[in-house]
Amino acid sequence: MNCEQVAPYLPGVAGGELGGETMRWVDAHLETCASCRADAARIRSVSKGLVALKEHDPVPPAFMVDSIMEAVQAEHRRRYLPVPPVVPAELIRVLSDNRDAIGTAAGVALAGMAAFALLRRAQKRRSVALRAT
Ligand SMILES: [Zn+2]
Repeated sequence: MNCEQVAPYLPGVAGGELGGETMRWVDAHLETCASCRADAARIRSVSKGLVALKEHDPVPPAFMVDSIMEAVQAEHRRRYLPVPPVVPAELIRVLSDNRDAIGTAAGVALAGMAAFALLRRAQKRRSVALRAT
């Protein structure tokens, strides 16, 4: 037997999954081949590492947790950023500082519109009266 024939069985050696006859056949090669012995040891080491990972919950390092939390918070802030007011603060300040003047101006404007409406109504009445005669 040669290395190419043995290579597919090396993971089985690491996991102890080979049958007796196959195990003896692979062991006979491993006793004579340093390269395949090294490969089998490497596979056994990786397999033990994977088993250890499965048994313990991996704990990420603190800097990684902080980095992830900062990214999540930045995303949260970006997504829920309050909509800036449509009316600029300067305009709000000017309006509130001149509330009395604006109220007076609005009253004058309303009075003017009422006077205009009365005038138009009186003009219509007069023209109707003139047409009738
Ligand atoms: Zn070999």
